[in-house]
Amino acid sequence: MVRLALTYKKLGKIDFKVLSVIEKNLSKYEYIPVEVIEYQSRLPSVKVHLSLGKLNNLKLVQRRTGSYTGYRLTWMGLDVLALHSLVGRGILYALGDKLGVGKESDVYSAESPTGERLILKLHRLGRTSFQRILLLRPYLRDKPWASWMLAAKIAGEREYKILVELYEAKASVPRPVGYSRHAVVIEYIEGVELHDYRVAEDPEHMFGVIVDTLRIAYQDVGIVHGDLSEYNILVTVLENGEEKPIIIDWPQYVPREDPSAESLLARDVEYVARFFRRAYGYRVDPTTVIKYVKGEVEEWK
Ligand code: ADP
Ligand code: MN
Repeated sequence: MVRLALTYKKLGKIDFKVLSVIEKNLSKYEYIPVEVIEYQSRLPSVKVHLSLGKLNNLKLVQRRTGSYTGYRLTWMGLDVLALHSLVGRGILYALGDKLGVGKESDVYSAESPTGERLILKLHRLGRTSFQRILLLRPYLRDKPWASWMLAAKIAGEREYKILVELYEAKASVPRPVGYSRHAVVIEYIEGVELHDYRVAEDPEHMFGVIVDTLRIAYQDVGIVHGDLSEYNILVTVLENGEEKPIIIDWPQYVPREDPSAESLLARDVEYVARFFRRAYGYRVDPTTVIKYVKGEVEEWK
């Protein structure tokens, strides 16, 4: 990220214009012809060429020469465009270290203009949305590059928007702060993954918070998480000693009407129940918990 931040500082207005023209043509060409970039950017040819050389050296675009010269956006190019937008809108101010590489994202620590600690999650591709995207847009079949990037953008938007709904419905999720393209800015949670939280004072309370969040997601928002496990739950210990689980990583959610919703919900509940049993010796009846989440009973214990 240090590299990304330094790269970002080297760019001027023209460079961002050229980058955004390349981005706009993402699904039209595998490599966008120079002439198209020149024409659409409405900038003098010399300036466009200088900028393309610079962007290529910084690895924000990739040049292809052959029957024609063309350029495509790299992941770093997309990162820089998202950063530019987030910084410009006052959502993000500073970037810190990489917190981790998730299954399909890179997560960095960050800061808001007022000094609030945040995370920046950069989606690298869209696991479930990818198949869907190919169904919806068969013309992308021969442009795998564009389809991965578009899938990542869809994942970013999906994650941000569903976090807004969940947060407003008072589910135990981190507060969403903003997004651009494949980049989502979220409140930083001071804590550890449930997987690493080996000694619990009050597992029953913790399980209750998780189950209530699944219930809010199902009944008020109308979705199932679909990828729940001890790795997608963070535990923060509040000042009063309360152990508060917070559920993260929602972009692959499915609507509860989806044919797969039922089995995903069962799997989500069973994974968490299994962890509580193995780590804390705390047992629940998954069948009752599932009924509670769906609103068929009023108690999960
Ligand atoms: P992935 O789909 O790549 O698994 P996650 O949203 O699960 O993405 O994030 C990956 C990791 O980054 C998490 O397991 C967690 O350790 C860390 N992380 C994610 N969101 C936050 C957050 N809001 N605060 C602190 N750490 C986070
Ligand atoms: Mn995850």
